Amino acid sequence: MKHHIVILGGGFGGVKCAQTLCRGLPRDNAELVLFNSENHLVFSPLLAEVVGSSLNPLDVVMPLRQLLPGVFCRTEEVQNIDLAASQIQYEGEDGQLCRMHYDHLVIACGNVTNLNLVPGMADHAFPLKSVGDAAALRSHVMEQMEKAEICAGPQRRRWYLTFIVVGGGYSGVEAAGEINDLVRGSARYFQSFRAEDVSVILIHSRDRLLPEISPGLREFARRKMEKAGVNVMLNARVALVTPEGVGLEDGRFVKGGTIICTIGSSSAPVLERLAAPKERGRLLTEPDMRLRGWANVWAIGDCALNVNSSDGQPSPTTGQFAERQGKQCAGNIVRVLSGHPSKSFYFRQLGELCSMGGQSAVAELLGLRLSGFVAWFVWRGVYLFKLPTWARRFQVGFDWAWLLLFPRDLAHLRTRQTDRVSHAHYQPGDLIISQGEPPANFYVIEQGEVEVVRSTAKDPQGEVVAVLGPGSFFGERALLSNEPRVASVRARTAVEVRIDGACAAAFAQAGGCAA
Ligand SMILES: Cc1cc2nc3c(=O)[nH]c(=O)nc-3n(C[C@H](O)[C@H](O)[C@H](O)COP(=O)(O)OP(=O)(O)OC[C@H]3O[C@@H](n4cnc5c(N)ncnc54)[C@H](O)[C@@H]3O)c2cc1C
Repeated sequence: MKHHIVILGGGFGGVKCAQTLCRGLPRDNAELVLFNSENHLVFSPLLAEVVGSSLNPLDVVMPLRQLLPGVFCRTEEVQNIDLAASQIQYEGEDGQLCRMHYDHLVIACGNVTNLNLVPGMADHAFPLKSVGDAAALRSHVMEQMEKAEICAGPQRRRWYLTFIVVGGGYSGVEAAGEINDLVRGSARYFQSFRAEDVSVILIHSRDRLLPEISPGLREFARRKMEKAGVNVMLNARVALVTPEGVGLEDGRFVKGGTIICTIGSSSAPVLERLAAPKERGRLLTEPDMRLRGWANVWAIGDCALNVNSSDGQPSPTTGQFAERQGKQCAGNIVRVLSGHPSKSFYFRQLGELCSMGGQSAVAELLGLRLSGFVAWFVWRGVYLFKLPTWARRFQVGFDWAWLLLFPRDLAHLRTRQTDRVSHAHYQPGDLIISQGEPPANFYVIEQGEVEVVRSTAKDPQGEVVAVLGPGSFFGERALLSNEPRVASVRARTAVEVRIDGACAAAFAQAGGCAA
C-alpha cells in the first residue's frame, strides 16, 4: 500500500522536505502531494534586491513543479486541517470544498505579515514578504522619484524622496541599503533633485541593529550604513503610521512619503483555525518535530516552534533553519515508515550574513568574521550557491555581473491592461455567462432580454430564475464575492451588452459596490 504524504507549504521547509522524501522513499511506496498557494518557491533573502532593482522578480522565484519532479504540486489554498480524521480541506478549482486523506502531514506553511501591530500600518505601509510585495514596492519607489522630479517645491520633493524602513533586522537593513543605493545612485538621471535630497531612515525599537550577529560586526554595519547616508534611529518605537509619515512613541514625528514595514508576523490563517498547542502563534512540537499529541503530523519552519537539541533553544524563523528542519523531518518520516525510531532536531548554525548596500556586508561564517567588500562578495557567493537550480544561479549571476558594468534599471512598469470595456452582440440562445466559471466581467444590457438559469446536479438543464431587460445589469454578484458564477445567463432575444472588464477588476480587488 502506498503511503500518502501531504506537505502544506512550498517554502524553504516544505520544498526541502519534499526533495528529501523523494530521494528517501521508493516511488511505488509513497505518494507525495505538496500544497502551496503559489506555483513557486520564493527565495526571500533576495527580495530586497528586487526592491532595489538589482534583480528582476522572476530571478527570485523557482517553479515548484520544475524543482520537484515526482511530487504532485497543487496550488489550492488549504482551508482546514482535521487532525482527528487525518484529512485536509481545500477549495477546489470549481470553488467546492474538497477533502484529502493523509497518512503523514507536514505543516510548513510559514507565517504571514501582521500589519496590525501599529495603528495605520496596514493602510499606509508596504510589507515585504512576497515577490508581489517586492515588485509593488520597487514600482512605488520609481513612482516617487518620478513625482519628485516634477513636483513643485523643495519640501514636497524631499517628502517624496524620504523612505522610512521600520525594523532593523535582516530584511529591514537589506531593504534600507538597497533603496538607498537605488535612489541615490539614480539621482544623476533626474533634473530636479540630487543625491543629497534623498533620505532613507531606518527605525529600530532596540538599542542595536541585527541582534543575531556579534557586537563588532553590528557596529560596523551601523557605521557603514550611516556613511552611505542611511539615518539609523535606534531605541525608537513607531506608534502611529499616517499618509504623511510615522509618529514615534516619544512624540516625535518623522515625515516621509514611503513607509516599509519589516516587523510583525502572525500565524497563517489555516493555523489560526487549527486547535493545536501554540506559543506566540507557532505550533508546539516534540523534539523530533511531530506536532504535540499527533504521531502522523509534523510541523517545520517559521510556523513551528522546534527546539534545537544542539543548544536547547527554540529555532529562529530563518530560511536556514526551515531548510534543515525540512531535511531532518523527511528523514524522520522515512525512519518511522521503516519501523525505526525518529531523531531529535539538531542543527549547528553555519553562520549569519547580511548585506547593507554600497557593496558592503557583514558575515559570520564557521567562526570567521568578515565585513565590507569581502563579506559582500561572500554574501553574493553564498546566496548564488544556495539558489536551488542552475538556471536561476546563471540568471542571478548574470544580472549581478551586468550591474557591475551598467546602472540599475529605472523602468517603471505599470501593469495596467488595455481597457476591456466593450460592446458585444449575442443571438437568441447564446450563452453569455456559464455557471461555475470564474468571474471576469460585469455586464449592462443595452438592448434585448436575457434569462438567468440556475442548474443543479438533479436538474442539469436548469430553471429560469429571472428575466432581465434593457438597463439591468448582471455578473456583479460573483465579482463581489470573488467566487465562481452561481448561474448561467443566456440571450432570449438578440442582445446588445456593455462589458466592463476594468470595472470588474476593481470590484474584485476592492470588494466594491455593484451599484
Ligand atoms: C524580506 C525577507 C528577507 C529574509 N532574509 C532571510 C535571510 O537572509 N536568511 C534567512 O535564513 N532567512 C531570511 N528570511 C526568512 C525566511 O524567508 C523564512 O524563515 C523562510 O522562508 C521560512 O520558510 P518556511 O518554509 O517555514 O515558510 P515560507 O517560506 O514562508 O513558505 C510557506 C509557504 O506556504 C504557503 N502557504 C501558507 N498557507 C497555505 C495554505 N493554507 N495553503 C497553501 N499554501 C499555503 C505560503 O504561500 C508559502 O509559499 C527572510 C524573510 C523575508 C520576508
